[in-house]
Formats: sequence, structure tokens, C-alpha cells
Amino acid sequence: MGLQIGVLAAEHIAAGAVEDHAIVGAIRRFPDQSDKDYLAEMPAEEIAQRIVEAVQIARAGQSVDCLGVGFPGIIGEGIVEESPNLSQLKGQNFGLLLTALLEQAGISAPVHLLNDADAMAAGIAAARGQLDRVVRVWFLGSGIGYGRYPQAGMIGEGGHTIVTLDPKEKFCQCGGVGHLEGIMGYRAMRRRFLDMEPEEVFAEAKAGDARCVAFVELWHRALAAATATSIHYEGPGKFYMSGPDSRFVQTEMLQLYLRDMVKMSSLQGSAIEVIPTSDEIAIVGAAVSAAQAVCGRA
Ligand SMILES: [Zn+2]
Repeated sequence: MGLQIGVLAAEHIAAGAVEDHAIVGAIRRFPDQSDKDYLAEMPAEEIAQRIVEAVQIARAGQSVDCLGVGFPGIIGEGIVEESPNLSQLKGQNFGLLLTALLEQAGISAPVHLLNDADAMAAGIAAARGQLDRVVRVWFLGSGIGYGRYPQAGMIGEGGHTIVTLDPKEKFCQCGGVGHLEGIMGYRAMRRRFLDMEPEEVFAEAKAGDARCVAFVELWHRALAAATATSIHYEGPGKFYMSGPDSRFVQTEMLQLYLRDMVKMSSLQGSAIEVIPTSDEIAIVGAAVSAAQAVCGRA
């Protein structure tokens, strides 16, 4: 039996070999240092080539059973149907492209593409021994991802949930008005505060700057609103906050707003937990999902 390989291709590429729901060996990252929009300008073929290189290193000469790759966007049957933050991939049969390049590199294994936030949700479920439960996760980065385990055949673009009816709220990368990502996404924050980086906005809010305080409140209210919407559709439960900008989440403020928004007693009691590092979890989740989807294994 060979290895399962998990890959995250969101703001950078990270790959690792997975056995029994855990990473074995080192994780390979491109680039090594953090660069938020590393993949944004890269042609699809080059992204695929970089993934193959990362897989080659991660597998360390061993045979590969299956490969799971998490991407931002709407993924269906190997095709990237929509990806506002990696728009060059739109309409690409990336699964086919990747399979062909892997075969050229001597790796013959089925490839499973999935949404990166769904990979995160699967990884958290695996890490917590909760593969029999529903896990929901917000991935906070350049864009905002909404992940759910188990994958339910839904579109999964919860990051574009409408959280305001203000027509001036149009900073979302997808072009939609009033979206969660238009408030919380790192890119959207840069478009809103042309004179400050998001890190400075959160720091200035701590120092008491009124404009920044108001924005940090809006940021948390938006996240609470989208979470409340998920609760009103699917019921209460555990919500994980992940991704690079989960560092900005103040759990108490979020819970306070959530209590204002969810009033029916049978829908109350959701828990919030911040999981700051994400590559490892997403890699395991991508591999576990691939094993379930294309190898028929749990
Ligand atoms: Zn949007």
C-alpha cells in the first residue's frame, strides 16, 4: 500500500505525505517564506508543475495511492468551475492536467480536487477524531472560505454570504455587493483602507483609533452574521476559525454578536475555536478526502 498525498494550493503550495490521518515526513512549501498572493499571477500549467515537484519531494521515492488537492473556489469533478482569487484556473480541467504531469513524473495515482476550506474541515475532523460528525470552518485569508465536513455536494461559497444590505459594500473580489469576503478578506481590507495595511488597522484599533475600532467591530459582526446564517440553516454546533487572519479573531466579541443574532433557544450554544496554523490540517484533510473519494477508504 502506498502513501496518500495531501496538497494545499491556496495562497502558496504545501504538500505532505499522510498515513493514518497524520503527516509523515516533512512538509514541502513553495515559496518557503510567506507571500500572500504567490499563486495569483502564476499560469495554471506552472501551478500544476509546482504541485508535481512538491509531491515528488513529499513522497520521497515511495509509491502514491491517491492525491488530494485543496483549491480556493468551486470545484466539481476535477474542474475548477470558479475561483475569484485564482481566476486563471477558471474552467480548467485541472485534475486532467495534474494527472498528466504526474504520469510524466512517474506517479500514476488518482487525483481528487476539493475546495481548500472543505479540506480544512476534513483535516480538523480527522485531527479531533470527529470523522463521524459535521465540522464547519471559516478560512480567513486573501479570500474567505467556508468549509464543511463531510462534503455535502454543496457549492460551498459561504465566504460570499450576504452580511449587509449597504450598497457601498462592494469590496469583494467576486464583484458581489454586501459579501462577507468584501469586509473580512485580506484583499478587500486593503482595498478599503488604501492608506493602511490590515495589520495596522487591527493594531490601531487596539490603540483606540475610532475608525479602526469601528471596522474591527464590523469585521466581527460580519463573521457573526455569516455564522448565524449557517446556524439558521443547519443548526448550532462547533465552528472553527482558521487561516492566516484567524489571528485577528476575538472570540468573546464574536460570541457576543452571535448571541444578539441567534435568539431561538434550540439554535443557541454554538462553540467557536480558533485554529491558527492551517497547512498541516488542510494537507491531512485533502489526503483523507481523496482516500474517501477515490480509494474507497475511510
Ligand atoms: Zn463575493
